[in-house]
Amino acid sequence: MQRRSFIKKSSYTGLALSLLPGLTLNQETEYSVAELMGKVDIKLYGEHINLRKEAHDAFVEMKRAAYSEGMDLKIVSSYRNFYRQEGIWERKYLQFTEEKGMTKLGAIEKIIEYSTIPGTSRHHWGTDIDIIDGYPKTTGDVLVPEKFEEGGPFHLLKKWMDDNANKYGFYLVYTDNPKRKGFKYEPWHYSYAPLSVPMLKSFRRRNIFKLLLEEDIIGKENFTTGFLKGYIQNNILDINPDLL
Ligand SMILES: [Zn+2]
Repeated sequence: MQRRSFIKKSSYTGLALSLLPGLTLNQETEYSVAELMGKVDIKLYGEHINLRKEAHDAFVEMKRAAYSEGMDLKIVSSYRNFYRQEGIWERKYLQFTEEKGMTKLGAIEKIIEYSTIPGTSRHHWGTDIDIIDGYPKTTGDVLVPEKFEEGGPFHLLKKWMDDNANKYGFYLVYTDNPKRKGFKYEPWHYSYAPLSVPMLKSFRRRNIFKLLLEEDIIGKENFTTGFLKGYIQNNILDINPDLL
């Protein structure tokens, strides 16, 4: 950390490096807090894809392979910034507390079955996707687990992804491991590990707990220490171990 801030402060990085032969640049990219929390615009690639370059290229290759086996890998959701996530959070919070008369804490517990606290969505990173098969005709919500199960319209895709996704760097995040806590099983949500693993590492090096307390999110007066610690432990970190 000290080494990095020294380099950042020095406007003569090259000179500093040549004067200090023992000093090597950290190979691992450090992502900014704003970037990790979806608060700055990042460069995104591909129409209806919207991923970081490397993730985009891997996705296109995977899509091509799936296509040759009769599936149309279609992205339902990929990059989403902090403010979009904040909108989702607010809409659900108001719906659950005002329309459904739930307690504030009850509403928050319900929201975090599938949705994240703004600033903590993996969709902020430009590495994660929610996907379906665009070919089968379906009605109603597409991102429901039953549609990916035996007899469901996306079962073929799910089987294909089980066998092939990892070859392209994509891993299921919220698996159906019954011991896993946090977000429910999401057979549609994949993450491009070569980028998202270092990003999660970078995020963990910050004080996520403090960052969340600093946010002005509706309902945050209900974020007790216990709740936030549990959220970080279960919802952010209790994921597919291949992504840690
Ligand atoms: Zn998702």
